[in-house]
Amino acid sequence: YDNRDGHIWMDGKMVDWRDANVHILTHAMHYASSVFEGERAYNGKIFKSREHSERLKRSAQMIDFEVPYTVDEIEAAKVEVLAASGLQDAYVRAIAWRGAGEDMGVASARNPVRLAIAAWEWGAYYGDAKMKGAKLDISKWKRPSPETIPSHAKAAGLYMICTMSKHAAEAKGCSDAMMFDYRGYVAEATGANIFFVKDGEVHTPDPDCFLNGITRQTVIGMLRDKNIKVHERHIMPEELEGFEQCWLTGTAAEVTPVGQIGDYHFEVGTMTRDIAESYEKLVRA
Ligand code: PMP
Repeated sequence: YDNRDGHIWMDGKMVDWRDANVHILTHAMHYASSVFEGERAYNGKIFKSREHSERLKRSAQMIDFEVPYTVDEIEAAKVEVLAASGLQDAYVRAIAWRGAGEDMGVASARNPVRLAIAAWEWGAYYGDAKMKGAKLDISKWKRPSPETIPSHAKAAGLYMICTMSKHAAEAKGCSDAMMFDYRGYVAEATGANIFFVKDGEVHTPDPDCFLNGITRQTVIGMLRDKNIKVHERHIMPEELEGFEQCWLTGTAAEVTPVGQIGDYHFEVGTMTRDIAESYEKLVRA
């Protein structure tokens, strides 16, 4: 990703893609003091752009720093990045972090907070799983308690166990891993929220210790508009056996059907297909 043509917005100006670098003594590199966003543009327009910029600011506040730009400024920067990319459909990554400066210990209040935004092409997150249903491993890592870490922030530190879980899953031939939370309830995948279908109704974990995804909220709204009952609740592992369908939601994942989690199998059913289609229509509307 580092060696290509293009431009990246960094601290208020566009820099050459290959020059968008940071110093090795960047605080965020050592202590995970960074937050980010994953967004998708469709037909030249970022879906729910403002919500993403607002979440970026909130995530930073949750891990104790302030993004030094307003939501309007971030919005303008994203428009600039997208235009410079020449792409109509793109993945947009904004990242804010504590930079290098006076401090190199755990504390870093005197270091500058920085912001960068890049856009590139990113197709289906799970490749052809999008059609036939992704196969998920079950991770040994548990989503942490909100008393252990600010679990609702989209912060880099929360992704350490996600990367390890996803690597373990891929080594077993799976596309991703489903994670339980610290209490043992079903939580989410490593970069996407999870939904289940049983008897025509939808069940999805209560997002009380992980990201309440923008796609998740969009999909719940779509389901309710279709008069489908959605239960946001704690889901026990033994319930997996009784669910008929399953899908993942996320900006990158969009709506991806799940065919298997560990030894549990799900059909890629009509509701899953219908929601995936409706979501695709909505983001391009
Ligand atoms: N959970 C995690 C851990 C994620 O990384 C993401 C992707 N941002 C999501 C859920 C889904 O969030 P969204 O729908 O806002 O992209």
